[in-house]
Amino acid sequence: MNTKLSLKDAHNRTINYMRLAVTDRCNLRCSYCMPEEGINFLEKSAILSYEEMLRLISILNEMGLNKIRITGGEPFVRKDLIYFLQEVKRRFKLESFNITSNATLLHLYMNEIPALFSTMNISLDSLNKERFFEITRRDSFDIVIENINELIERGIKVKVNAVVMNGKNIEDLIPFVKWTKDKDIAVRFIEEMPFNGSGKNKPELLWDYRKILSHIATEFKDIQTLASPLSSTAMRYQVKGFKGEFGIIPAFSRTFCGTCNRIRITAKGELRTCLYSANGTDLLNPLRKTTDDAEIAKLIVEAVSKKEKDGFEAVNNKQKFIYESMTSIGG
Ligand code: SAM
Ligand code: SF4
Repeated sequence: MNTKLSLKDAHNRTINYMRLAVTDRCNLRCSYCMPEEGINFLEKSAILSYEEMLRLISILNEMGLNKIRITGGEPFVRKDLIYFLQEVKRRFKLESFNITSNATLLHLYMNEIPALFSTMNISLDSLNKERFFEITRRDSFDIVIENINELIERGIKVKVNAVVMNGKNIEDLIPFVKWTKDKDIAVRFIEEMPFNGSGKNKPELLWDYRKILSHIATEFKDIQTLASPLSSTAMRYQVKGFKGEFGIIPAFSRTFCGTCNRIRITAKGELRTCLYSANGTDLLNPLRKTTDDAEIAKLIVEAVSKKEKDGFEAVNNKQKFIYESMTSIGG
């Protein structure tokens, strides 16, 4: 394979981080992500097999990519995921290996998880059981909380991601921050994006990062700003004296695009250079057609060279704004 190929875009950014969606299926129906009836889920033959994903990781790893986040859909809904995760961990020397999960199935893998991840990102949008049900349309609150507590007990650093939704969970913002008082946990509030698979919502935002922070500041007077790595998507804060921290991810305001080091691989094997791109580069068919890794690497280099400057440019490149579900893009 041609090891000279590297992952640099036209804006002088080095791409070393991939979010890999291992499925588009999910056992929850979060209203901001998917319609109640779900979406047109892909057939098994239309998604990358574990072998194909391992080959892709190997090609990208040779090109300098050394950070991977597994996502979906709900990753643990895919059969035998745990063996795939163990294989990735065993085969590749990665600077970071992480996963984003809704935590509904983690109790099934508690013994295996600590050897795989030191940090886990868990999506939880409410600390109230009824509101959790209204948002996710499933009765899984108790098991999610139990699993989060068990992860912490086992020494795993938990980052909770909560999408901030007008009229749905604003009353949770303050309790979430209070939660960080005695718990070494990071709660990160995410601006809601229009990727809900409905095609209906207008891309407008009522709770942006400034409004979220000023709402929290009405309750907590001593908020300190913490340092974040350059490529980080989260602004980090801590209430003075609290054990944990909170953060805000301006996913819709897109203030972090300038230092973006990410690509996404969707469940159907499409490389997306931006979350806001209209479509991407098909890698599934090339992976099935050729055994020559250099050919795949060339396709990746070409796609990365066209990576959008930011999420606004990606939207401008579209003929019309497409309201896909995050579950098919890979969150
Ligand atoms: N099922 C897993 C989970 O929920 O953690 C992984 C996939 S999910 C698509 C990844 C992340 O995307 C979650 O943190 C979720 O809250 C976020 N997400 C989904 N739809 C979103 C939207 N419309 N706006 C902002 N974040 C969204
Ligand atoms: Fe499923 Fe995650 Fe989407 Fe919720 S946000 S429906 S848990 S994929």
